[in-house]
Amino acid sequence: MGIHEYLFITFFWGLPGIAGAWMAKGREKNPLVWGLFSALFPFVLLVLWFQKPDHEVPGYFHKCQFCGATYPWKRSTCKYCGSAHHAPESTLP
Ligand SMILES: [Zn+2]
Repeated sequence: MGIHEYLFITFFWGLPGIAGAWMAKGREKNPLVWGLFSALFPFVLLVLWFQKPDHEVPGYFHKCQFCGATYPWKRSTCKYCGSAHHAPESTLP
């Protein structure tokens, strides 16, 4: 195989795999499994994209304490109700 075939494989199998693994990580799923599925079936990326976590994932998603929606970490206010997020609550019993 020449370099072009390798490039083709990298773009058509590698990139969806990497994107899938990255999104899975942010959603607390197994990056290896989801990366592999994304490489084989690129539509899995869409499934991942719309599947938000149901709890806070530090560095990726905030969970709104008021309406319960999850929204991207880089936003400082809830995308749905406009409330500012607070520091994560203590998990002490
Ligand atoms: Zn909210």
